[in-house]
Amino acid sequence: MDTVAYTSPAPADARAGDVGHWIGGRLDTSAGRPQDVFNPATGRAVRRVLMADAQTASRAVAGAAAAFPAWADTPPIRRARVLNRFLALLNERRDALATLITEEHGKVFSDAQGEVARGIEVVEFACGIPQLLRGDFTDQVSTGIDNWTVRQPLGVVAGITPFNFPCMVPCWMFPLAIAAGNTFVLKPSERDPSASLFMADLFRQAGLPDGVFNVLQGGKEAVEALLGHPDVKAVSFVGSTPVARQLYQRGAELGKRVQALGGAKNHLVVMPDADVDQAIDGLIGAAYGSAGERCMAISVAVLVGEAADRIVAKLAERTRALKVGNGMDPGVQMGPVVTRAALERIHHSIDTGVREGATLLVDGRGLHVPGREEGFFLGGTLFDQVRPDMTLYKEEIFGPVLCCVRVADLEQAITLVNAHSFANGVACYTRDGGAAREFARRIEVGMVGINVPIPVPMAWHGFGGWKSSLFGGMHVYGEEGVRFYTRQKSVMQRWPRGPGGAEFHLPAAT
Ligand code: NAD
Repeated sequence: MDTVAYTSPAPADARAGDVGHWIGGRLDTSAGRPQDVFNPATGRAVRRVLMADAQTASRAVAGAAAAFPAWADTPPIRRARVLNRFLALLNERRDALATLITEEHGKVFSDAQGEVARGIEVVEFACGIPQLLRGDFTDQVSTGIDNWTVRQPLGVVAGITPFNFPCMVPCWMFPLAIAAGNTFVLKPSERDPSASLFMADLFRQAGLPDGVFNVLQGGKEAVEALLGHPDVKAVSFVGSTPVARQLYQRGAELGKRVQALGGAKNHLVVMPDADVDQAIDGLIGAAYGSAGERCMAISVAVLVGEAADRIVAKLAERTRALKVGNGMDPGVQMGPVVTRAALERIHHSIDTGVREGATLLVDGRGLHVPGREEGFFLGGTLFDQVRPDMTLYKEEIFGPVLCCVRVADLEQAITLVNAHSFANGVACYTRDGGAAREFARRIEVGMVGINVPIPVPMAWHGFGGWKSSLFGGMHVYGEEGVRFYTRQKSVMQRWPRGPGGAEFHLPAAT
């Protein structure tokens, strides 16, 4: 068993001073343009993040490249032991991490705890890396010849992550990448950068060799430097569709392996036979949880048949009753949105919806949260009579705005969903097993929930949408994640007893 030196009793709080980079196993605040990080509930800057330039990115990659050969050579079982220790520390410190997330992101504390729990699941999965990396072997593919395959790590890989899950989305990437023998550079969102440093410090305590996990703070410049660096062999990206598409295209030009997950506009279809109360609970939680800032948030309710009026009335009542406030306050159901710019963008989307002729049933603008006048708050917003040709329907809003679209039957619901350019998640509420089966089979969306509003797959199943919600084909985490972070090598072996003579035909099984 490996021995570990726990260098401090508890990880550094990652709260004091500027949020720097983590390069070569230590905090690095030597470079970077400072940029404010806000607490969205107060609207005030709480600290500053140091935005990296290309030179700092090169330093992070150089550290990761230097650490690669030894880490790749470390037996998978020993890599798994380090991950197990990281897992234990993450479990011990999960509430401290969740507090940090609420402070910089704004989501309610219980939701931040849920995000950490879902991240931890991927670490648990990655701890099984010896089994996941097991190769295959065929004895005697031809006389005296065996053939087997192994999967080997790529080298330095990078992860670029969005603001909305500062712990969970990085955990979709680095645990598997590192377990598979790669070294990793994480470029988290500049809006909530502290969670990544917190995790880096836990890794240090877990005994991860210096340089295996690195954090580079910054924005576009840092991302471009990472993608363009010749030593970065693969990039995992999660964020908005325009950036995902651009990164994927550039990655292809450079001949790099890229998986780029983009935006979403997720539908929840309520069939006439559904349990209405369950469907409304599903819609309210999935539309307004985390202020709608989830890539799996429901932003369109597709109401099938005659129950629509009844559902819309109840939805309006529940939307008005939402408890909005500081995410750390008990009983609060929805926190602020992430930035003032996001708030203004969502206001603009609501204006557009009204102008396009949708019926605004509940208007969340102008919400007053006592004592939090400078916070980036917006109440739940509900539109009815939304049509597929409206911008409100076509574009991702990424805020607490739910649009109701009415259709006549299941066929129309499926046609509607399948015509959308985004295809991340979808749900159908029904008590009819036949309808559910038909829906799940024919719907052209990557992740489907039947009476489950947010069907985020478990760690061993892999996560990914279709169409404009994912460029690159391979899902994150699960077995596809293992494949993404490794490349296959096939070995064919023979030990001949004497010369057999030259063969001029392509060898075949004999
Ligand atoms: P974003 O695209 O603005 O930023 C994502 C990351 O890319 C950040 O690290 C950011 O610094 C960087 N970045 C931003 N602009 C860039 C540019 N021009 N060039 C290079 N890098 C750039 O996304 P966001 O606002 O942080 O997150 C919200 C978006 O992420 C939403 O569209 C949401 O649907 C999407 N998202 C998708 C998934 C998914 O699994 N499909 C999961 C979470 C979030």
